[in-house]
Amino acid sequence: MKQLGYVVLFMMIVIILIPLVLVKGCGQNSTQPKKQKTVKKTQQIIKVYIAEEDKVVDMNFNEYLKGVVAAEMPASFNIEALKAQAVAARTYVYYRLINYKKSNIQIPEHKGADICTNPAHCKAWISKSNAMEKWGLLSANKYWNKISKAVDDTTDRIIIYNDEPIDAVFHSTSSGKTENSEDVWANVIPYLRSVPSQGEQFSPKYISKVELPIEEFKEKLREAKPEIKFKDSEGDLSVNNLVENLEHTEGGSVKTIRIGGCDFKGTEIRRIFELNSAHFSLDIEGNNIVFNVKGNGHGVGMSQYGANYLAEQGKDYEEILKYYYKDIKITQIDETLQQDR
Ligand SMILES: [Zn+2]
Repeated sequence: MKQLGYVVLFMMIVIILIPLVLVKGCGQNSTQPKKQKTVKKTQQIIKVYIAEEDKVVDMNFNEYLKGVVAAEMPASFNIEALKAQAVAARTYVYYRLINYKKSNIQIPEHKGADICTNPAHCKAWISKSNAMEKWGLLSANKYWNKISKAVDDTTDRIIIYNDEPIDAVFHSTSSGKTENSEDVWANVIPYLRSVPSQGEQFSPKYISKVELPIEEFKEKLREAKPEIKFKDSEGDLSVNNLVENLEHTEGGSVKTIRIGGCDFKGTEIRRIFELNSAHFSLDIEGNNIVFNVKGNGHGVGMSQYGANYLAEQGKDYEEILKYYYKDIKITQIDETLQQDR
């Protein structure tokens, strides 16, 4: 009887344990053990000229980037959009540093540093304490942690084209389509092509209006091009007898516009009248000229509001970057690049 008891016990063990082991075994096969995710902190140090304080500071590269992302993109945006911004900003810095070194360019504004915090010259940057103050007590920690995660999770990742870091330009809001590089600046850059961009209407600056008296409008154009000659219009002045020729870019912005016998680039008109973008139409209302403007920024490369929209649709940061920069790869900075900078 005792032996039978052992046999029954043995059988029970076999019946219960074998399927258990098998099930567990299958489970392990179907779901690979997850790689332990370690947040790699970059060892890279960057010299930053803090323009507001007139001093040069050595910063860990990621810490510098957190200040850039905090200054350049709303912290309320989707984490994948923030990651895309972090990688674009990191790439932008590498691209500039490598090119400065290659061409042996010294930047007097940097006072010996690699980069500065003047948004008109390099990228905008904000200190952690100023960013937290801007966000307010309720959001400060949440937003800083989110931005830190976006930067740390993409540590040392940059965008390359032909094995070189790209000129990862970006803007706030497109008009619904981004611009080809040559329509805004001089050069055709193969990865900066016009693409449709959705979700721009969520930007508070998607639509804007600039209105000024016709006389002031003429005066500003005369300052830019003294040779300009306006027709003496009889009766009501209309846009048709003011504007002779109007060409658009692929992205829908004004490429060139002829006024008073002079050709202006859309980007020139944007600068003269401080428009949010070069995607505008002209109207005359009474004695005023009205610019109806779509989008905010130069319109080239990644649109930040478009990136956030894609992230909200479930796209990850790599998909977002590959959408806005054509035929690029996302890679880990290698040692040769680090030495190049
Ligand atoms: Zn600078």
